[in-house]
Amino acid sequence: MSADEKAQSRCLIGSLIIFIILIIALLITAVILKFSDSHLSALSQNSSNPNYSNSLVPSRPELTTAAGLKPTVAPIEPRNVCESKECITLAHQLHNFRDPTVDPCQDFYQFSCGNYIQHTVVEEPVMVRKNEIFVNLIRGMHSVVCSLRLMISDFLVKKRRTTSNSENAMKTLYDKCEEVKNAEDPTTHEKQKWKEAIDMIKKIGSWPILNKNWKESGFNLNNMLTKMSEFGFEKFGFFEIYANADQYLLISPLQSPMKQKHQPGRFKKTLLHIFKISNIKIDAKQLKSDLKDFEKFEDEIAGYPVNYRREFQTLDQLQKQIPSVNFEKIIRSSMNPKKNKNEFWDKVKDRILITDQPLFFNTTKNLETILKTTPKRTLANFLIFRLIDLMITQPDNYCEEVVLDRLPLASLRVFVRNHFDKENLKIASDLVEDLRQSFKDSFQQSTWLHEETKKKAIEKLEMMRKMIGYPEELEKPGALDKIFETLQISPSDSYHTMHIKIGRFQMEQAMEFVAGSTKILADMRVLWANAAYFFNSNFLGVNALLLDDPMFDSTYPKYAKIASAGRVIGHEIGHGFDPLNRRKDGNGKENDWWTPEDSNEYDKRVQCLVEKYDNFDHPLYGKKFNGTTALREISADVMGNDMAWRTYKRLDMSNEPKIIGFEKESTDKVYFYISALV
Ligand SMILES: [Zn+2]
Repeated sequence: MSADEKAQSRCLIGSLIIFIILIIALLITAVILKFSDSHLSALSQNSSNPNYSNSLVPSRPELTTAAGLKPTVAPIEPRNVCESKECITLAHQLHNFRDPTVDPCQDFYQFSCGNYIQHTVVEEPVMVRKNEIFVNLIRGMHSVVCSLRLMISDFLVKKRRTTSNSENAMKTLYDKCEEVKNAEDPTTHEKQKWKEAIDMIKKIGSWPILNKNWKESGFNLNNMLTKMSEFGFEKFGFFEIYANADQYLLISPLQSPMKQKHQPGRFKKTLLHIFKISNIKIDAKQLKSDLKDFEKFEDEIAGYPVNYRREFQTLDQLQKQIPSVNFEKIIRSSMNPKKNKNEFWDKVKDRILITDQPLFFNTTKNLETILKTTPKRTLANFLIFRLIDLMITQPDNYCEEVVLDRLPLASLRVFVRNHFDKENLKIASDLVEDLRQSFKDSFQQSTWLHEETKKKAIEKLEMMRKMIGYPEELEKPGALDKIFETLQISPSDSYHTMHIKIGRFQMEQAMEFVAGSTKILADMRVLWANAAYFFNSNFLGVNALLLDDPMFDSTYPKYAKIASAGRVIGHEIGHGFDPLNRRKDGNGKENDWWTPEDSNEYDKRVQCLVEKYDNFDHPLYGKKFNGTTALREISADVMGNDMAWRTYKRLDMSNEPKIIGFEKESTDKVYFYISALV
């Protein structure tokens, strides 16, 4: 330090000391003034209030009249309004979406939501505007799904490895996806993927394209299909096997040709690219001719008629029609090999449904005749081309979406644990019971149903099982880890191998679900913000994501919950009694329990709905609605709205908080304002 710098620093210290002395002097003056202040007594009064130290509300200055008397101030009535963030958003929507220039008695929806339309898209023609609004509404419904994506993303980025199998699987898949996405040289991963894929194809069966000496005698259809099943595929060229949410295993034909998916020549280009990066020499002429045969064959299958009615046959019937395919062997191959396959098969086989399609059940020309008359070379190519098609994927841009899509159950578990308000479960469960009671009351009070029908309807209603939020099984500690024990993916696996292993895991899980050993279907549907009625098992599912705002919040007043989520749930319960499902019993089995007289009356009443809908003259679309097509939905809507209203009327709403800005309005009115928004 130079002499000059030393002098400067001494000068600074001196100034600092003077500054500190000044501050202390000021503080002492302030304290003396404070204690001489006449408001000391007021301070001591306030300090006796235990809430004082935490209160953010400044104390009122004391008022004195000219005569020196304190005026009597009327105590402020506590406002009974809902002040949660979610209620304030709801209040905001109720205020801003309405168009107060319209008379609600003339056009209630315009009054309730008119400004939403005006402020959403302004410049477009009216039809485009309507569509945009619809898209926005759907987006609004799915905002919970977006927040789920963000939450999962945050979780995956920060996550360290733990002892949880399911969480580790999520993290391993996510990290590998990021690694592939951000790779400096993406062809390394691509080469690796197709090398592994071609090795897998060789294990599945001999592929004519790769084998110059390929002979028809080397082709074994059932061996190929069984191997595909072992690798965890659910699509088998001609058909697919999958579990539905009703715990049934379905077999359906696959008829759409690949050309619907690829531009002309695109598939061939991709094949040539795969051969090039895998250093495989092929006979170009032969490939051209094989692809031509393949396309002709695809057209033949696509040309088969399709039955759009929802009808099913049994596995025995299918096996009789198509003896060349061993369906039992294929299904057994996708089961967990550690299980006793016979015992397991016994449980699964009773729950197999075959969609009644001409490709399976046409008596003169069906899959059997196709298999018998098509050259084996074409069949082998067909199976493998379609398999390759399943593996051609676009690069993944959002790895958290890959995790949600491939491991939905593990993702739901993370959502429930880190984000979901558990209080919602009890409230929603009570809401379902309140709605159930309203259905029951309406059956009992019916003026046209006979006692016999009433009794059966109530029986079905009481037998309707429910799942609120997510399967209870997900709550048990370690439950998911037990399920995920069979999924062994490690960071050293390639991205392709991980996807194949997850596919196999999903298939095994689907079989466990059908066999009844788990209540959870590891399927994307667990992440939908919706409720659903499963007619084959008389089962009501209310998803966790529906039980979040904007449809639902634990802080909403009771009438707001009924007007939003309550109507959706009522609609789903209504499906149990809609024209298509009403004859099914409490177990979801077709078993007509209606007296003929009541059945006729039901149909007559439903016909009124159909006519009303057919004659509805929409200002934009005119009389273009078809009541018969929409019958199931409109009847479920009528029941849902009616039952929600009955529930609202039956329950005590007198102490429910008001929505800000609607304190003076009757709750009846606010109920309908909210209904109009949903
Ligand atoms: Zn519906």
